[in-house]
Order: sequence, then C-alpha cells, then structure tokens
Amino acid sequence: MSKRVHDWVLPYVRRVEAYQPGKPVEEVEREYRIHAIKLASNENPLGPSPMAVEAATRALREANRYPDGGGFYLRQKIAAKHSVGIERVLLGLGSSELIDLAARALLNTECEGLTSGGSYPPYANSIWATGATLVTSAMHEHRYDLRAMVEKLSPRTRIIYLANPNNPTGTYFTADEFDAFFSRVPGDVLVVVDEAYFDYVGRTDYSRSMELAQKHENLMVLRTFSKVYGMAGLRVGYAVGEPNFLAELNKLRTPFNTPGVAQAAALAAMDDVEHVRRSVETNNAGLKQLSEGLRALGAAFVPSVTNFMMIEAGNASGAAASEELLRLGVIVRPMGWMGFPGAFRVSVGTHQENQKFLDAFAEVRAKNGVTAG
Ligand SMILES: *Cc1c(COP(=O)(O)O)cnc(C)c1O
Repeated sequence: MSKRVHDWVLPYVRRVEAYQPGKPVEEVEREYRIHAIKLASNENPLGPSPMAVEAATRALREANRYPDGGGFYLRQKIAAKHSVGIERVLLGLGSSELIDLAARALLNTECEGLTSGGSYPPYANSIWATGATLVTSAMHEHRYDLRAMVEKLSPRTRIIYLANPNNPTGTYFTADEFDAFFSRVPGDVLVVVDEAYFDYVGRTDYSRSMELAQKHENLMVLRTFSKVYGMAGLRVGYAVGEPNFLAELNKLRTPFNTPGVAQAAALAAMDDVEHVRRSVETNNAGLKQLSEGLRALGAAFVPSVTNFMMIEAGNASGAAASEELLRLGVIVRPMGWMGFPGAFRVSVGTHQENQKFLDAFAEVRAKNGVTAG
C-alpha cells in the first residue's frame, strides 16, 4: 500500500472536477494592474437590499452565539411565501449544499444520476462524489431536451437534476413541457428542479413547480438567495420537498449550515419586495441593452430569460476572448468547461457595466478581424 495519502483517495472522488469560479476583481486588479468589473458569476449588480444589510449588521453582534441550526424563522417565512408547511422547507449553505445532500442521500456506486449536457457543473460533481455513474442527454438548440432525457432513464437511475432556467445557456422549459416529462419519470426517481433564477424569468408559461412539489413525493425544488436577492456571499438556499425526505437530508447537513447573519439578512431581504422589483427591472433593461448592442456588433448569442447571456466568441475561442476582455478590465466566464468551447458567458450588470463590456467586446472583435454583420 502506498504511503502517499493522495493515492488512497477513492477513484471516483479523484475524478470530481474542481468548480471553476469567476475570477475575483481583486485578483484581476492585482495581476493586470487595471480597474476591472466582474460580470462573471451572475451576481446582482445592485447588491443586497439595504434592509438585509442592516439586519445582518445587527445579527453580527451576536456572532459569538451559534445560529439557530434549524433556521426556524426563515423556514417559517419561506413556507408562508410558498403556502406550504414548514416541514416541507430545508435550508442549505447555498442551494449548492442541497444539490449535494440529495445525491449523498440517494446514490451509491450501483446507481445512476441523470442531467443534461451543457448544464450546471455541480450536478455532475455531486453524482461523481457518491461513486454513482453520471448519465447525460444532449441539448437541443441550447435547451434541455426533456424527451431525450426520458430515453436515458434506466432501472438504476435514482436522481435527475434539471436547471430551469439553465445555466449557462439562459434558456428555460415550460410548465407543460415539464409535466409531459415528469409523467414519464418513474415514482422511484427523485427529480430536483433548480430554479435559482426564478424571479428573472417573467414568462406566464414558465413554472408550477411549487404546486407540484406538494403533490409528488419525488419532486424537490431548489431556490436561492444568491441571485435576485443579491446575497451570493452569504450562502443561503432552500429546498421545498417531501417532509420525510427532507428530514433525512437534514441529518446529513453540518449542524449549523446557514450562519445567523445570513438567516437574518434573508429574512429582511424577503420583506424588501421593492428591491427585488428594481433588480428584475434593471436586469430586463440590461438584457435589452446587451441584446441590441450584440446585434449591432453582429455577434451571435443565445436569447436569455436570466441575468446572464451566453455569447459566441467569434473567431477566437471562448477562452481567448475572455482573456482579451480581462485585459480590457471586464471579467467574463469562458464556457469550455461547461461544454461550449467557442463561447463565454457574461452576467447582466448596471447600464454602465454593460456598456463597458460592449465596448470591450467590440474592441476584441475588431482586433480578431470580425466585423459587424
Ligand atoms: C447560481 C446558481 C445556483 C446558486 O447556488 P448557491 O449555492 O445558492 O449560491 C444554483 N443553481 C444554478 C444553476 C446556478 O446558476
């Protein structure tokens, strides 16, 4: 037996791929000695609600105490918002933790976990980390192909992860499309619907997931405070699902997963509906600004219902274009690792940030010999 600890790591753990986060502004400014803006992680450019900041500041004075591990008040408020019992709500250290807990509860080396290619990398990692087999279906025109996904079900499938809308493509599937899919999923397979960008979608045909999660034991819905609430740094997400299943996940989580400061901020953020409204409005204006700007440049992009957009790099690879944008002080996310080597993803920023991106991208395209269509 080797004496090197790394050699004993389970083979399926070794194949987990590190999550590649967007570069922090500080790092880029240090390395490139330029002022930079970050449009790489789908963060809310308006920041958190001032009410959330105030509540968090107050809660900070009690940071010597362990938080309420059960997150009672926040779960109560979330339950009321969705008209479900509190036993149907579980908090996570971001929705990322809940993605992982579900896999740990359901999968082992005998099982399969299913998701779409071109989707959110943590699904694959959570499946791999249990030793289960990852199965993916191909996308169709940058959208989840739910019919193709049904064909990938096997007797060993125990969990399916769906991002709706999808990251990084920014596309969604409708409530009717989901119904048709779900009716073909056996009752012994858990479907996890990740709706991190729910509030941005604004389409009448989008989702009835919360209603369905009350009717079907094998459906779990994930939401997060990281996006429209502007609290990505505080790490709070939640699941709505079947109470006995959530009770099992609750045993697997670490004892105090969501910090008291974060719980307090989330409670206050839920009261600031005006901030959410303003965030969505700013985003809609930004999507329009980016779409028009990109069309003027003759750049191809995937129309988005979220707070980000996937864009074709043109003559360069997504990685090369991202690097050139970085040198011009705009941090975006290359998409090769998510399955789109010719593309990068840009988050919707403030009006000024969007303009800075468009100007920089025009410069990159000119340099690479791509002219407006
Ligand atoms: C951003 C995002 C999340 C949020 O993760 P948190 O852990 O809640 O910050 C979840 N799912 C998808 C698809 C995302 O893009």
